[in-house]
Amino acid sequence: MLSPGATIGILGGGQLARMLALAGARLGLKSHVFSPVADDPAFDVCSARTRADFLDEAALAAFADAVDVVTYEFENVPARTAEVLEAHCPVRPNPKILALTQDRLIEKQFVRGLGIPTADFADVSDAGSLARAVAALGRPSILKTRRFGYDGKGQTHIREGVDLAQAFATLGGAPCILEGFVPFVKEVSVVAARGVDGSFRAYDVCENVHEHHILATTTAPAAISEATARQAIDMARAIAQDADYVGVLAVEMFVVADAQGERLVVNEIAPRVHNSGHWTLDGAVTSQFEQHMRAVAGMPLGSTRRHGRQVVMRNLIGADADTWAGILADDGACLHLYGKTESRPGRKMGHVTRILD
Ligand code: AMP
Repeated sequence: MLSPGATIGILGGGQLARMLALAGARLGLKSHVFSPVADDPAFDVCSARTRADFLDEAALAAFADAVDVVTYEFENVPARTAEVLEAHCPVRPNPKILALTQDRLIEKQFVRGLGIPTADFADVSDAGSLARAVAALGRPSILKTRRFGYDGKGQTHIREGVDLAQAFATLGGAPCILEGFVPFVKEVSVVAARGVDGSFRAYDVCENVHEHHILATTTAPAAISEATARQAIDMARAIAQDADYVGVLAVEMFVVADAQGERLVVNEIAPRVHNSGHWTLDGAVTSQFEQHMRAVAGMPLGSTRRHGRQVVMRNLIGADADTWAGILADDGACLHLYGKTESRPGRKMGHVTRILD
């Protein structure tokens, strides 16, 4: 177990790294941020900085030698980067999870292998295999690139009348999967943590609403039955255990409701702290950021108990953040701004949390 005063290396310098560094500081942990982007928001709040490319092996080695453990704020860490770092110091979560979550096909096969439902899916490598996949899964269905998709990027809906060769070309001819359309009634996520000793703690399952493919609000707890919530947490536990995971992870799920009741379909695993866990900063005893720092430092996990009857987190996207003064004047609002120098449409600039008694 690391002690206060130890240094956590964080790969990536966005708002997630910034909030990790701030949470670590509360426990007396130092953060060393590694990012290629000069004006990244985490650089403002850390004890040490390396600005270098993720494939700069000399910079990676020097970084890893200067810290006690390395963690990351994004899942697209190149395999080679993780390999170089691991030769010098522990990397948590265990980089095996990167290979699983960087590729939607491998991720779905892994989740299915645990007996957990996912959307039906098929491997698509060219227009011919797309035609066969659409014949099997029907329309509507969703074509997604296997790698590097986020916030709805790298995907296209295959509706009636859509030309398949054109749809495949829209995604640049990259390897894809076709997913059967899940007629969900809501989207939920489980944010949970697993410690070095195998201990597991989950926050309340929360409900997520997206606008223009970007998370708009998260409400905790989700309005689902207790049995469904238990199942959701059991699924996240099974995933974390099987991957020998250490740290915070998020599992995004669809809730489908039919005559038999509610059932869950896992959509995606994020091997990191997650936007749908931001409510825990103000709305839970231990925030997801502190929890992640505790986990990767080998410290005991903290309580995930929620404050209040309901907690609502709203993202401030682009110009939304210009309303900061009004939010500060609202006694019920907890404002978080990420210190980004440039506001762009669709860019996450901050968030605001409200705790309802
Ligand atoms: P993803 O990039 O996989 O997180 O997908 C982005 C959003 O597209 C999700 O949050 C859903 O709203 C929607 N979506 C993704 N996959 C499916 C699916 N198989 N069926 C229905 N909607 C989906």
